[in-house]
Amino acid sequence: MKGTADVAILGAGIAGSVMAYQMAELGWRTVLLDKARFPRHKSCGEFLSPESAGMLSALGLAEAVAGLGAAPMNRVEIHGPSGGFLEFALPAPAIGVSRYRLDTRLHQLAKEYGAEWRSPAVVKKVAEIDSAKPELGFTIDYVQHGESRRLQARAVIGAWGRNPQTGLMQPSGKGANGRPEAGDAGREGGGREPWMGIKVHYQGLMPGEAIALYFFPGGGYLGLAPIEGGRVNAAALLPRAAFREAGGSVQGVLDRAAALHPRLRERLRAGEPIAGTQAAVAPVNISRSPVPWRQFALIGDAAMVIPPLCGDGMTMALRSVQLAAPLAERFLRGELALAEWREQYSAALTRELKRPLFWGRLMQAALGSRCWAPPLLQLGSLLPGLTQRMFRATRLDGLD
Ligand SMILES: Cc1cc2nc3c(=O)[nH]c(=O)nc-3n(C[C@H](O)[C@H](O)[C@H](O)COP(=O)(O)OP(=O)(O)OC[C@H]3O[C@@H](n4cnc5c(N)ncnc54)[C@H](O)[C@@H]3O)c2cc1C
Repeated sequence: MKGTADVAILGAGIAGSVMAYQMAELGWRTVLLDKARFPRHKSCGEFLSPESAGMLSALGLAEAVAGLGAAPMNRVEIHGPSGGFLEFALPAPAIGVSRYRLDTRLHQLAKEYGAEWRSPAVVKKVAEIDSAKPELGFTIDYVQHGESRRLQARAVIGAWGRNPQTGLMQPSGKGANGRPEAGDAGREGGGREPWMGIKVHYQGLMPGEAIALYFFPGGGYLGLAPIEGGRVNAAALLPRAAFREAGGSVQGVLDRAAALHPRLRERLRAGEPIAGTQAAVAPVNISRSPVPWRQFALIGDAAMVIPPLCGDGMTMALRSVQLAAPLAERFLRGELALAEWREQYSAALTRELKRPLFWGRLMQAALGSRCWAPPLLQLGSLLPGLTQRMFRATRLDGLD
């Protein structure tokens, strides 16, 4: 692309790719950059929650995702850290699809609509062209094929995932409402043991139509979810110390979970991990307060991290695009000042996230506790209506 782009999107996970597709479809000169080499496997439960269906339709993505052969899920199984069990129906079907396939399809769509693709391209620095006139746009310095390059864009969207890229911005980096952003990379709720995520695909397991969650004592869990092609995704989230204790490998984590949960052991025995599908990520920031804006809008995990246990991170990423894209469009048309975009987007995102953040954190902590999990699971079995209400409380406001 010669000259200034209309919008540069930094990160091509689910949030950045969908944003790029939306902006390119509207006719804006869009550049999408990511440091990764695609396609790639990614540490993720690969569970697209029931709420995602409506959002995918509204974003014009239903057909594209339907073509990926996703596996349906209609139940949740929870296996407590010391033996309790709870099963409940999802309010509507969820689907399982690998990030390998989903992200690749989203990249294709963005490119088909004219977004310019730069990968692997590591973004190093973003700066306002003139800090007194932020409407003039930004310069983005990145490294591609070992060469330093620079791009100019009228608008920038940060979609770089869950770890705050605090070194990326010029020194004045501010959080929502002008407050400095908490430096909480890789820490739970801002300051405890760092976590880590792993995943591997299995073949030969009965896929079933449930997402099954097996909790570890002391926090963390392993989830099994059916995905395309009759495969099952096994993904775990656990404190780094527990990962080390499990031998510091994906297989070690699976063995540890199987040793704790006999039903899981039986299930895994029937299948085998698929070579080349393993992925691990650390540190994992499992929950932090929303940061919808720095010098520009942040979307997806860059803006908010809800506990992965809620299985809603991808849906929230889609929701953040739904909120950000129309405002970006109005800004580029000259109908909205940058400050108005910031105000409206920050207020909407913070409002919608309040409830799922609170309940998601509470559920993740309670279900990983030896003390709280058994009575909670028992109560849930006795009162299915309460279980449904608790589940709904972890979902985005206004979508139920
Ligand atoms: C173990 C685990 C299990 C999970 N399970 C689920 C689940 O079952 N369901 C669900 O909905 N959510 C789940 N999540 C959460 C979900 O993975 C995220 O919410 C989702 O990936 C967010 O998408 P995103 O596009 O914001 O970020 P990402 O998908 O993380 O994409 C960010 C992109 O930015 C790129 N990037 C970062 N820095 C730079 C840079 N400097 N320059 C260029 N590119 C950069 C990265 O390479 C990456 O591709 C899980 C998370 C974990 C850790």
